Amino acid sequence: METILLLAHTEKDGSLARSAREAQHAAGTLFKSLPGSKLVIGLVGDNVQMAANSIAACPATKYFGVTGADFTQPRYATDTAAAEAICKAAQATMVVAPATSRWARVLPGIAQRLGGRADTHVTGVAVADGKISVNRWFYRQRMEGALTRTQRPWILGIDPGSQTPCECGVGTAAVEMVTVNLTDASKRTTVIGIREPKADAQTIRPDAQLLFVTGAGWTKKQADGQTHLPEAEKLILDFLKKSRASLGSSKSLVDLGGEGQAVLPFLSHLNQIGQTGATPRHAKGLSTCCHGEEPHTVGWRFIGERRAISLDPNCGWARGKADVLYVADAFAVISKVNALLAAGG
Ligand SMILES: Cc1cc2nc3c(=O)[nH]c(=O)nc-3n(C[C@H](O)[C@H](O)[C@H](O)COP(=O)(O)OP(=O)(O)OC[C@H]3O[C@@H](n4cnc5c(N)ncnc54)[C@H](O)[C@@H]3O)c2cc1C
Repeated sequence: METILLLAHTEKDGSLARSAREAQHAAGTLFKSLPGSKLVIGLVGDNVQMAANSIAACPATKYFGVTGADFTQPRYATDTAAAEAICKAAQATMVVAPATSRWARVLPGIAQRLGGRADTHVTGVAVADGKISVNRWFYRQRMEGALTRTQRPWILGIDPGSQTPCECGVGTAAVEMVTVNLTDASKRTTVIGIREPKADAQTIRPDAQLLFVTGAGWTKKQADGQTHLPEAEKLILDFLKKSRASLGSSKSLVDLGGEGQAVLPFLSHLNQIGQTGATPRHAKGLSTCCHGEEPHTVGWRFIGERRAISLDPNCGWARGKADVLYVADAFAVISKVNALLAAGG
């Protein structure tokens, strides 16, 4: 009989992030498919009561918490100690956790301490004939694999964006506090601040409906024999502001910046989509001024509907990689789209 533990950390404001609710959905899927199994919740943070209450209507039978100022900041030593203590208190055989940057660092360490196994980048869980299997992608999202394991505890890091977030209702949860005795050595690391782009400079929006990808064409000489970088910058930023799309880029475009060439200043390698970049998940994607070569389009695996605007009717997108290809000048198209968006169209 499996004891399935949802292991999550709270956010700064004491809430549970969407990624935690997605992991909860995966844990709930296992629980519902395994007759006789138990579902329990483990939370780590400054104070976990609010988070526990926010999901109290879920079918979990027990809530465990590790709380206090020592567990507010992400820190390997204290997070691992907290997670290990909860897994032991819950006697968990399956541990389902969101693969946030905080948790992704500690999950393999917990598996090592508990003599279990950890699998990362899990995008699906299923049960067939009483046997649990998990899905993940390999070779930069080109191949999908299904894995089973007999080793317990089996720890799963669920990729954010891969599940529907669980929407179980609120209530009052009785949280059993788990004590963790920390040594001074485990508290040596301190987070002294977070450096992040200003809110309006944040172009990567995992929750956006649309992924808008820019290619090197935006920086190339156009029909008049000139480049139009300031115009490109304005069009792209205007579009992002109005559509709230997430911004992706081809490798060629972000590489140009690294090579000291004039390029769009708001792009970094973090925006890069593809084999050596990210594989974001969005309902729709629009590629502009981009050739659509295989290493680039491999990053579009989890995009529901793909469209592209390119001047080249022979580009990679036209060879079956896009659902719709507009053979058109992206400067003209995006300018028109921005005008329509401004008019509320
Ligand atoms: C091992 C390996 C890994 C790689 N990994 C990645 C990766 O992770 N991500 C990635 O992106 N690439 C990756 N690449 C590079 C990839 O193969 C392509 O070279 C790159 O994506 C091409 O970028 P691009 O389409 O922006 O530029 P280009 O190939 O220069 O294409 C520019 C396009 O813009 C069009 N254009 C120009 N002006 C306009 C206009 N006004 N309107 C409309 N269209 C216009 C042109 O017709 C052209 O099609 C990798 C390559 C290798 C070998």
